[in-house]
Parts: sequence; C-alpha cells; structure tokens
Amino acid sequence: MSDLIERLIRPEIRAISAYHVPEAAGLIKMDAMENPYPWPEAAREEWLEVLRRAQVNLYPDPRGSELQAALREAMGIPSEMGLLLGNGSDELIQMLALAVAGPGRTILALEPGFVMYRMIGLFAGLDYIGVPLRTADFSLDLPAVLAAIEERAPALVFIAYPNNPTGNLFETEAIERIIAAAPGLVIVDEAYAPFTDASFVPRLGEWPNLLVMRTVSKMGLAGLRLGYLAGAPALLAEVDKVRLPYNVNVLTQASVTLALRHRARFDEQCRTIREERVTLMAALTALAGVKPFASEANFILIRLPEGRATQVFEALKASGILVKNLDGAHPQLADCLRVTVGRPEENRAFVTALSAAV
Ligand SMILES: *Cc1c(COP(=O)(O)O)cnc(C)c1O
Repeated sequence: MSDLIERLIRPEIRAISAYHVPEAAGLIKMDAMENPYPWPEAAREEWLEVLRRAQVNLYPDPRGSELQAALREAMGIPSEMGLLLGNGSDELIQMLALAVAGPGRTILALEPGFVMYRMIGLFAGLDYIGVPLRTADFSLDLPAVLAAIEERAPALVFIAYPNNPTGNLFETEAIERIIAAAPGLVIVDEAYAPFTDASFVPRLGEWPNLLVMRTVSKMGLAGLRLGYLAGAPALLAEVDKVRLPYNVNVLTQASVTLALRHRARFDEQCRTIREERVTLMAALTALAGVKPFASEANFILIRLPEGRATQVFEALKASGILVKNLDGAHPQLADCLRVTVGRPEENRAFVTALSAAV
C-alpha cells in the first residue's frame, strides 16, 4: 500500500496533513466562527414548508437563478456585475485556482491569513507567495506586497477583509494600490461582512480585475455551504466553466433563498454578536496577561504570556470550552489563541475559565 501511495500521490500532497477539524462533542464551540444562534424561530415553520416542497428527485437549478436574484437584492450587488455561486466560498477559491493554473502561475496571500488560499493553490499546482503582515499590529506591509507583485506577477491575489485569524481590516488605500498594481485578479474576501461596515462591494466596476467574495457561513448558515463571487460578468463566465454542474444543492438553494427573505432576523443575530464582541473585548482588555487584538469580525485573537498558549488552550478545554490554538500555526501567531464570539453566557464562561487559566 505505501508503495502504491508513493508511486501515485504527488509528493506535495503526501507532505501535508489534512485540514484538521477537532472533536467538539460536549464542548462550547468557540473555535470555528460559527453563529451560535439557530435558524430564527419565527421563520422555522415556513422553512420546513419550503423543505417539504423541495424536489430532491430532480437536479438543482444549475445556476441557482432564484437564489442569485435574492443574493443580489439582499447584498446590494450592482446589476451590471456577474455573480457566481460556490459550495462554500472555499469552492470559489478552488474554481479561481483551477481557471488560472499553469506553469509559473502564482497565488499571493497575506500571512498570517486564511490557510485555504495556500492549500487550494497547492492542490491546483500553483506556486504560492505569502507576504508577511507587520508583526506589531498585523497591518498590511504595502511596499512588501507591491514588491512581490512586481517580481512575481501573481495570477491571483487574495485579501481577506477583515482578515482571519487577526480580525483587523487593512487600510482601504493600501488595497486600492494593490488592485491597481496587480496584473492578475484581486479577490477581496468578505467572509466577515456581517460584522463590519467596510466593504468593497460598492467599488465593483472601478477596476476590471477586482472580485468580491462572500459567504453565508458566518451569518448563521455555515451548514448549508454557500459562497458567492461578484465581478465582471465576462470574467466570471470564464471561471464558471470549471464549476462542476449542480454544485449548489436543492436544499441549500431553497433554504438560503428563504433565509434572505428573513434577512432582518439574521441581521439581528449578527448585531447581537457585534455588541457581544464589544463586551468580550472589554473583559479581555481588563485581564492581566491577555493581549486582545482589535477585531471587525466575529472572533478575537488574543496573545498570552510567552509559552503559555497550549497550556491555556488545554485548560479551557478541560473547562468545556473549545477555542482555536494558533500557537505554532505561523511564527507571528506565537502564543496566540482565537476565540469566536458566542452567546453572552458562553462569552462569560470563556472569560471566567480564561482568567483562571492564565
Ligand atoms: C470562513 C472563511 C471562509 C470560508 O467560507 P465558506 O463559505 O464556509 O467556505 C472564506 N474566507 C475566509 C477568510 C474565512 O475566514
């Protein structure tokens, strides 16, 4: 078997480990940026009715036309822009990578950042450049990014806005400069759009190479797997060619379309999470030995005293709370944990357990 694997599986795939999702049974889940609130009660009966009528014996609408119209309206996508749907935004990253892959083709992202840009680039056979953020505050090092663009002419540049796992927004002007300088596509990844007022959606059309990517995952529908990509229609029509037919299933299309009709209720949940972020940030700021980083997302990155992160992570877990341990994930994330903002009582339990552990 190992002979078979060595002969067949690409060395770069053998060298990595699979995307690790930890066991969370019985724990308060504050590790994965999920919305802690379930489908709104007031829309539950209507949802079940939609599911009852869904025709799962038939293939889904290949383009998800009804869902596309609902997304356009809810998210204010300009009518002259194209829209492409993915099985989560992860699949859109994959489609983009497959559409541009070839010898010497490169993907550029900022580090520390979302690891799937590098992973998917690797799967598609793209070279990868990670440009470090500034160590002190995780701000964007514009000269370094512009130099890398000049030198490597990346086919794809990904900018998470706000960034994961640091939670900050990069300066608008720096992003504008990058879009203007890049010979390839620049994808502004707005996965955390429900938790910030900043967005490049209104800027679509200003540059031919700007795409904006979003997801319904963080607003409370992570289980449905739906991401969307907006940009120049002619460009998206090309990317669409590598999409597998029927990539967004019947139940997802019907459920998200309905959810967008009840968007006010999901917005309300996200507003509560934003308010809780303020409360949690204040509590963390007051804790000796904990340095929280300002966040525009539904999570907060914290730094602990040197060498303590794993011990504190384990102590939190023993208290029934699962967060993300980032110590070792990237040199600039040494001693860091990331906590997703939960319900008020979950956040209080986290702060209590953290203050006991640190
Ligand atoms: C969570 C996240 C995504 C993934 O979204 P899915 O739609 O669930 O695949 C994309 N980008 C960033 C920066 C994220 O943090």
